[in-house]
Order: sequence, then structure tokens, then C-alpha cells
Amino acid sequence: MMFEFAAGAATDVGQIREVNQDSHFVAEGLAIVADGMGGHRGGEVASEIAVTTLRTAFDAASMISLTAGVGEANTEIIAQASLDPALHGMGTTICAVAVLSDGDEEPERLGIVNVGDSRVYVFRNGQLEQITVDHSLVEALVREGRLTPEEAEVHPQRNILTRALGVAESVEVDEFDLAPSIGDRYLLCSDGLFNEVTEERISELLGTNPDPAVAAARLVDEANAGGGRDNITTVVVDVVEFDPDREPRPDDRPTTEVPVVGNVSAPGADDEPSLDTPIAPDTPTPRRRWWPFG
Ligand code: MG
Repeated sequence: MMFEFAAGAATDVGQIREVNQDSHFVAEGLAIVADGMGGHRGGEVASEIAVTTLRTAFDAASMISLTAGVGEANTEIIAQASLDPALHGMGTTICAVAVLSDGDEEPERLGIVNVGDSRVYVFRNGQLEQITVDHSLVEALVREGRLTPEEAEVHPQRNILTRALGVAESVEVDEFDLAPSIGDRYLLCSDGLFNEVTEERISELLGTNPDPAVAAARLVDEANAGGGRDNITTVVVDVVEFDPDREPRPDDRPTTEVPVVGNVSAPGADDEPSLDTPIAPDTPTPRRRWWPFG
């Protein structure tokens, strides 16, 4: 079966922060969301490097190409951070969904990769299911039975990551290989969405907005209405039947320009206060932190 993506995306700085450190990309066959962390310009630079590097590296429509691209993004972030003291310590989450076509005879597959706590959900037959597993402290504590999922949702340290790009020379990448069905809808998002909007409400909005661009925008609106305490990014990808006669859309690869990038720079926003409770409030650390759990 041949399929392709019909996608829409939205991003917003939110109600509190002054800089949008999320980045995203979506074009035919590839969707990416990255949520940067780090003071000064670090977070926005890291997420943009991640998106740009993966987008360029993913050229073989294979899972190997996809995971290698995430590894390259990690290497690139570390390299850039070492060149510029202002970028030292920057990092980012990344999640991506891509069409895999490993050969003419094989049915096409969907590859999903994840590092950090941005999420990929699938919305199918009216049901929302989270595919990725967060690499966060609270997720680890839930798995150990030390926190309930309800406690995790409001935990003051839910912003602490256990895995991110930019932290170590090598990074472990979660991979998911799925058989897609026409009509499946995938949602990629940063935590600014699911920390403000319940999964029940996300499900409702995905189910009542057939246009993926409208659905993506409505989700961002809802997160802003819920407080917008973080940057919010949503990419909604519908799996549709491949139409060889379809006119290329402006966002089809290969294009020369990145069609959608989430970062909007604002001057003087380096040290904006965070509503997240940091472990050490007196330390001028980034809002998102990485911690080698376990
Ligand atoms: Mg975030």
C-alpha cells in the first residue's frame, strides 16, 4: 500500500515565555518536533539544529536513516555548543514520524523515533494512544510505582528529562516501526500541549477538526487558553492514500527552504523566570533539565 501525509502544524510562544524554543518541520513523508532547553539562545538553537540536521540526514526512507539522523543531530548540537560558550549546555528533545519504504515489494511502514518528552500520539477510530514513552524523571518514577500518573501530571519536577540530545556523545534513540492505515492521524507535540490540555480534550479536538492544519491550530489555542505556561507546538499528520497525479504541494520535499520553523527570537529574553519549579531555585539553569536517572 502506498500512502503519504497530509499535514498541518502550529506553534506559539505561549502566554508566559518570551522566546519560542520549540522547532518543527513537516513536509511529505517526514514530521519533526523538537523542544529546546538551555539558557541564553541555547534552547532555540539546539532545537533548530536538531530539526535541520535530521531533515537533511533522513534521505533513505529507512529506520536506519532516521535513527542515524537523530545521532547526527546530537553530534552537531554538541559540536556547536563547544564552539560558543553562550551555547554551552544546550540540548533538546526530538520526536519524528517518517514514511519508510525499504523496497518496492514491501508495504510501506511508518517509523517513529523519540528522545526526551515530546510526544507522538496516534488517533485511530476515535481513540487517542500515546506511542512514545517520555524520557523524564516522573515517567521513570511512575514505572517504578513511586508516583501515580495523576501525581506525575502535576509534579513540580516533571520538567526534568532523563534523556536529551546535546548531553552525551552518544544517545539512545527509541524506535517504533508501525503499519499505518489510511485514516490514521498522528499528533506530534511538545510538552506545552499536554501539560495544559487533557488527553480527553486533545482527542475531542482531533476528532472534530478534519483539516489537520485547523486541528493543529485549535490544539495550540486550547493550550494557550489553559495557561500557555510553555511554548506549544503541534504537528498533525493524516495518513492518506498516495495519489501519483497529485499536484506537488508547496511543502513537498525536496524544497530548498525549511517551510515551517517554530523559533521566533525575542531580544532580552535570556533569563525569563520559569513557572516550573527547578530543583535548585537559586541556580540560573535552563527551565528544562537533564538528569541521569537510575
Ligand atoms: Mg516545552
